[in-house]
This record gives sequence, C-alpha cells and structure tokens, in this order.
Amino acid sequence: MAFEIDRQLSPESVHVFRDEASGLDAVIALHSTALGPAAGGCRLWQYASGEDAAADACRLAEGMSYKNALAGLPLGGGKAVLRRPEGTYDRRKLFAAFGQAVRELGGRYVTAEDVGTSVADMETVRDETRHVAGLPARGAAPGGDPSPWTARGVFLAMQAAAARRLDRGLGECTVAIQGVGHVGSALAGMLHAAGAKLIVADMDAAAVARVSVATGAQTASLSGILTANADIFAPCALGGVLNHASIARLSAKVVCGAANNQLAEPEDGTRLADRGVLYAPDYVVNAGGIINVAAEYLGWSQAEAAARVEATPARLLAVLDQARARGVASNVAADQLARAAIAAGGMARRAA
Ligand code: NAD
Repeated sequence: MAFEIDRQLSPESVHVFRDEASGLDAVIALHSTALGPAAGGCRLWQYASGEDAAADACRLAEGMSYKNALAGLPLGGGKAVLRRPEGTYDRRKLFAAFGQAVRELGGRYVTAEDVGTSVADMETVRDETRHVAGLPARGAAPGGDPSPWTARGVFLAMQAAAARRLDRGLGECTVAIQGVGHVGSALAGMLHAAGAKLIVADMDAAAVARVSVATGAQTASLSGILTANADIFAPCALGGVLNHASIARLSAKVVCGAANNQLAEPEDGTRLADRGVLYAPDYVVNAGGIINVAAEYLGWSQAEAAARVEATPARLLAVLDQARARGVASNVAADQLARAAIAAGGMARRAA
C-alpha cells in the first residue's frame, strides 16, 4: 500500500499509506538516513489536502534530520503525518494501521508521539512494530511522554539566552508562552519555579485556566500573546508563527520555545536579528524529547539521556557563537552546523 510521491524538500523518500477500513491517510517522510534510522514523531492533524499533509511531513522531517544531527544522535530525520478522519473513528484501529505502515518501512523509520498523539497511541503502534518509542517507562529505563524532557531543554536554553541577550536570570524576566499543551504547561511550571512572570495564551480555555491557577500566569488573547509586554516569547503551539508581519509586532527580545518550524521562511531569522531579537533556533532547543526517545529506542540509560538534555544550552551557545563569527542569523548558523554534522557522520558511517 506504499507508493512514492513528488519530492518536495529533497527527502530521501516519501511514503503515502491509505487504508479505508481504519481511515488511515498517512504520509511518512524520510528526509535523511545518513546518520541512522529516520526518527521523528507522528502528528495527527486536520489537513485540507493530501498535498498539505505531505508538505508538512517533508518540512518536519527535514527539521528532524537537523535536530537529531545537532543533538549528536545516531539517527536520521523523519516524520509521520496522519490526516484526522472525518466524523467518528476507532482510534485503536487507526493506530494499528499506522503501526503496520511503520513496520512496512522495515526499521528505516522510528516513530513516537507528536501533536495530537499520545503514549496510548504508541502502545497500539507497538503491537504492530518495534520501531516505536515514547512508550511507558519500564523501571529506571527512559520512556514515556517526551514532553517534560522537551520542556527541560527549552527551559535550560532560555536561561542561557536570557543571560546572553538580556544579562538577566529568568527570575527577573516576563515570559509569554503561546500554547500551554504538553510542553508549554510543563515549561510554565519550570519558569514559575524559577521565579519568572508568565503570560499565557491557548485556544483551549481549560488549559489556560489550569496553568493560570498553578502559576499565577496572566492571560492574553490568541493574537495578543505576540505583542504582550514580555522579555521572552516562547512559541509552544504550532509552527510558522514568526513571519514578516508578526516579527514587526513582537516586543520580546528573546524567542525561545518548543514549537517546530517557528519561522515561516528562513529570512525571518534575519528579520529577527535585524530587530535585535535573539532567536534560539527551534530544533536546537527542543531536542530534549527526541533525546529521551532515542535513549529509549537505543537502550541508553536515563542518566545518559539526562546529561544530553542538560547540554542543550551549550549547543545553543555554540550555534550563537557560530552565527556571530560568520555574520549570519542564528537559524542559518544552525542549518550550516547540522548539514556539516550530517555530511561528516554520513561519511564516517560509509567508511566504517
Ligand atoms: P500539544 O498539542 O500538547 O499542545 C499544543 C497546544 O497549543 C494546545 O494546547 C493547543 O490548544 C495550542 N494551540 C494551538 N494553536 C494555537 C494558537 N494559535 N495559539 C495558542 N495556542 C494554540 O503539543 P505539544 O506536545 O505541547 O507540542 C507543542 C509544540 O512543540 C509543537 O509544535 C510540537 O511539534 C513541538 N514539539 C513538541 C515536542 C514534545 O516532546 N511534545 C518535542 C519537540 C517539539
């Protein structure tokens, strides 16, 4: 049931899986397997068309290649996108069919949770294939929801970014968080514990209420969060929020958040730099979850995973130093370093 479609962002391969009985309509994009199996989460979302879903999968898979490479993981980059079926559907059947699709790829793709999918969904996938992570942790081994690890990496990176750009600790900062789902709410808790003031926005009013009660966060409207009077903007919802128009309205001097593909186009990194905003590239700072997923899949210890997450600020500072040295925006420096790591790692694997 797999077939190839047009290559969009030069992924190695793109696979479409459709199964009428379960309602599965999935795209799995393998951007690169140069460093190892293509790893990246599975997103369940509404897409207007199959082309939109494929484009999203390709863009996200490319981001995963760069994220995994810069995090020093022996993994390539991939992503699965499932179009949410219309009307009612059997979730177990849907994810069982998705698990069969992952199995068909024979270990070239490793899946885990992403927006719209849960640990329970990955357990269903596990019934069909072993190429899945983000399963409930067993004993002291890594596993479970990767979101707290993603939040931890973003939090540590934010500390480093605030020190560099604002010369302040997070306890003296106001942080505007866009999206308080799995990662955003965990990040809010960590920032609150560090003494930061918070402003939050989410289309889910109950999620906003929970975080406000737990942290004393102020709330902003969906459009107001970008212009909120904050030192730091943390995009933790969906991608593409930083564009020509929104950057002109942004009041924060640091952008550091979990969302993938925050820049609508690469030039937005330069737009941010021109406005004096320190942009912490998304895939550099949000790798904590995939590090924990990799540890689970590859059999590393929790201590090893934690140490790699704790090194997130060091990786961010290396990117920022490279940007300064080369006179380029931080997103450009990150891409350059990631591509170099993929090329070097790919050569080393071929030589081995
Ligand atoms: P989630 O679905 O749990 O949370 C996303 C939240 O954003 C939801 O509460 C949703 O209502 C809200 N939202 C959607 N559109 C919004 C808008 N326009 N304005 C404000 N809020 C909006 O997802 P998550 O797991 O917390 O992931 C958040 C982001 O971080 C995603 O972009 C995801 O790809 C990225 N990410 C997540 C992980 C992880 O470990 N979960 C790892 C790396 C990157």
